[in-house]
Amino acid sequence: MSSNDSHGFGTRAIHAGQTPDPSTGAICTPIYQTSTFVQKSPGVIVEEYDYSRAANPTRKAFEDNIASLEGGKHGLAFSSGVAATGVVLHLLSAGDHVLLCDDVYGGTNRLFHRVFAQMGIEITLVDMTDLGAFKGAFKDNTKLVWAETPTNPTLKIIDIEAVAEVSKEKGAILAVDNTFCSPYLQNPLSLGADIVCHSTTKYIGGHSDAIGGVLVTNDDGLFERMKFVQLSEGAVPGIQECFLFLRSTKTLHVRMERHCENAMRVAEHLDAHPKVEKVVYPGLESHPQHAIAKRQMCGFGGMVTIYLKGGLDESRAMLEKVKIFALAESLGGVESLIEHPAIMTHASVPADQRAKLGITDNLIRLSVGIEDADDLIADLDRAIG
Ligand SMILES: *Cc1c(COP(=O)(O)O)cnc(C)c1O
Repeated sequence: MSSNDSHGFGTRAIHAGQTPDPSTGAICTPIYQTSTFVQKSPGVIVEEYDYSRAANPTRKAFEDNIASLEGGKHGLAFSSGVAATGVVLHLLSAGDHVLLCDDVYGGTNRLFHRVFAQMGIEITLVDMTDLGAFKGAFKDNTKLVWAETPTNPTLKIIDIEAVAEVSKEKGAILAVDNTFCSPYLQNPLSLGADIVCHSTTKYIGGHSDAIGGVLVTNDDGLFERMKFVQLSEGAVPGIQECFLFLRSTKTLHVRMERHCENAMRVAEHLDAHPKVEKVVYPGLESHPQHAIAKRQMCGFGGMVTIYLKGGLDESRAMLEKVKIFALAESLGGVESLIEHPAIMTHASVPADQRAKLGITDNLIRLSVGIEDADDLIADLDRAIG
């Protein structure tokens, strides 16, 4: 029982990073719920284990598993997605400049603008679907590009290969937040990114029961620097969480297939609905970057954004009437969620910026789960009325 890089995604999802427990043969990697490890002689330790903030076997199995799924050499796990993001920012020094895609995750926006800007990091928001604007936004001190694709909640698709090429030319590190895709649908490292970030809270965990984050890279130097920050800052995940994530990745490919299938059905159905003004889904041919999505993703994901005909009243009425879709923030779990970005997830984005991004009162974001598509569609129809 083991896996190697030549195996397919499903085989790696189930086996990468894991071997039967050598002492008992347990098929599942045990939860090594321990803070410290006994040494044979001062400094003589078993493998790399001396203290669980530095390394722990359950965490290591998860880190190796996720690295394999992203086609990367090194994985690092953290206590949340934003903790992972912060570690990438620690690669910078005061006076460095960062390019950030314009409708980035709200928590990422807050971390950049309200924590790291105060430590002397300079930030420019830019629409990375506009390559001309992207190129023009670089400065002499641009050291990092942070992209997220599809974006949230307007599901714009950024061409990772094109952005990677420009970043490399300008000597900046490219980090891609791959949370919306999961490693099953998109592998940014293979498209030229230097670092991939995930909130494992979403599709990787997939069951809405744990908070976590990961970073994956092929670059030995970046890995050593980020591992040093992981050790020094200590935002490591709990061991129970590592076990849950390790269990969840075993079904990631199967869950993602159903998320994509259901989301496509919901998107097509709502696209033809008389009370829906517009549906945004990368799988629809009407999506402005459908061709890029087709090229760089191997499925279009579980997130669907709709614009209802009407305004806040119509949105509120729908959100109060759904029965299977749960009105809640977050995404990527097996259960379907629905939310109103202007009031909920994106309330912290200033009103003028929200307007510029198209986050209006009639915009509703769906995280389509893996229930029966017919039931989901009936639920939405009933709620839209
Ligand atoms: C949720 C999310 C994050 C932050 O992750 P947490 O686990 O909540 O800290 C970052 N990026 C994206 C795209 C997310 O959806």
